[in-house]
Amino acid sequence: MSQFSLKGRTALVTGGARGCGLAFAQGLAEAGADVAIFDVVDPVAAFFEIEELYGVKTKYYKVDVSSIESLKAGFKAFEADFGGKLDICVPCAGINKNLAFLDTSFEQHSQLLGVNVLGVYHTAQLAAQQMIKNGTKCGSIILVASIASWMAIRSQKSSAYCGSKGAVRAMCPAIAAELVPHDIRVNTISPGYVRTEMTAPFPHLLESWKDEIMNRRVAEPNDIKGACVFLASDASSYMTGQDVLVDGGVTKW
Ligand code: NAD
Repeated sequence: MSQFSLKGRTALVTGGARGCGLAFAQGLAEAGADVAIFDVVDPVAAFFEIEELYGVKTKYYKVDVSSIESLKAGFKAFEADFGGKLDICVPCAGINKNLAFLDTSFEQHSQLLGVNVLGVYHTAQLAAQQMIKNGTKCGSIILVASIASWMAIRSQKSSAYCGSKGAVRAMCPAIAAELVPHDIRVNTISPGYVRTEMTAPFPHLLESWKDEIMNRRVAEPNDIKGACVFLASDASSYMTGQDVLVDGGVTKW
């Protein structure tokens, strides 16, 4: 079987109802994996087309990753539906509130960290626990960070968001080191500017960002899914604790 094939594997993607998470779910399914998603909103129509398109099993669970009770309930239901199998986990759910540093309240900041940091950390933790319990071989956890973990987002008020994404990137090597004995690899993907509902409220920025990007275009979600499929597959078996920037060269120019 091809090193890139995910046939027979089971994946869980948080924030998979739309945007980057949906693209990751589609990419993993295209490579052959069954895919479950956790999200607080109902998935867009394209999610329900995955099963027929790629002949894999899919399932949506309404889960709020910022609540440990909701996360645990989601994992319990997912474990029962998929027979405990879990090979790939992509904690992708995230929010960005464009909060001004001088005005950000403790409550706003806590809410953002609850989704972007605690949600990612505990999704990865519960996934690793399930993988270990199930005796998963070659497990892969792919945390979604951002170019915001490397730089400020131009023309946006991004301090809280950048801090949250920096935390995701920083936790990755440490988690990876602890999971080596369990045959689980952990990496981050740092997407650049991607056209999704998160960036849709800033059409003028999407336009101006183009000039900052080496390849002169904002990404579509499909542009970043290949990196996720690669990190999920055995083709990346020597990679762990790494950050993969998929940013059109914006951080290098
Ligand atoms: P999006 O808003 O289109 O999608 C985010 C998804 O996460 C939504 O379906 C949303 O309902 C879900 N979500 C939000 N809070 C949740 C919660 N508490 N529990 C469960 N699900 C929740 O945004 P996107 O652009 O697709 O972003 C996906 C990830 O990619 C985020 O972590 C984001 O920070 C990251 N990212 C996005 C960009 C970009 O330019 N769009 C760039 C770099 C990184």
